[in-house]
Amino acid sequence: MSTSVADNLAQVSKDISRMCRHAGAPDVQPRLIAVSKMQPEDRVVEALEAGHRVFGENRVQEAEGRWLPLKERFPDVELHLIGSLQSNKASDAVALFDEIHSLDRIKLADALKKEMDAQGRQLPVYIQVNTGREDQKGGVSLEELPGLLAHAREIGLNVVGLMVIPPVDDDPTLHFALLKKLAARHGLARLSMGMSSDFALAAAMGATDVRVGTAIFGNRA
Ligand SMILES: *Cc1c(COP(=O)(O)O)cnc(C)c1O
Repeated sequence: MSTSVADNLAQVSKDISRMCRHAGAPDVQPRLIAVSKMQPEDRVVEALEAGHRVFGENRVQEAEGRWLPLKERFPDVELHLIGSLQSNKASDAVALFDEIHSLDRIKLADALKKEMDAQGRQLPVYIQVNTGREDQKGGVSLEELPGLLAHAREIGLNVVGLMVIPPVDDDPTLHFALLKKLAARHGLARLSMGMSSDFALAAAMGATDVRVGTAIFGNRA
């Protein structure tokens, strides 16, 4: 891997384009979310100076510490929350982030909607699905997805898509295919899937958002 963040960003984008062409969908490039969690500040600034503006973080407090100052210098950044969220942090999350990828329960849906109304910010939301049936993982079960989606729509959340983190030891192909099928069944357009190890595969399988950390920034601290 090259060590320059700018070079890595260019390489990842190139790999995504190549896979989309290969899959016969050259015009639907997924959005590249650069996952900056636990990365040194200078690497993140390098990405910003290279012109990248879309970033992902998995913890609200850590993200605030980093991005409240950086947003002064780069006001057009777009921040995605990709990690699990406690209901009592919904207020801070809605204030900082532009999109939320990790809705996985009714209580959180209610907390988010209440904060979005209070702050006048109706953020796009993805429901995270636990396709691997892993107990300790975030994400709603396949059985509970329809109920959660119906509730979220009923209270007026802007649910735009589904998100998945496949179990590390599984072939991600089946999880990506399942996510795509579920999204189509429920009339959801966006698919947040693919990380450093499998973003090209995800792009070829119809991801609209890929979340890439180490392939851009190097190993986390
Ligand atoms: C950390 C993280 C990523 C990025 O992982 P890499 O392997 O570094 O690309 C993507 N999605 C989620 C939900 C994450 O927590």
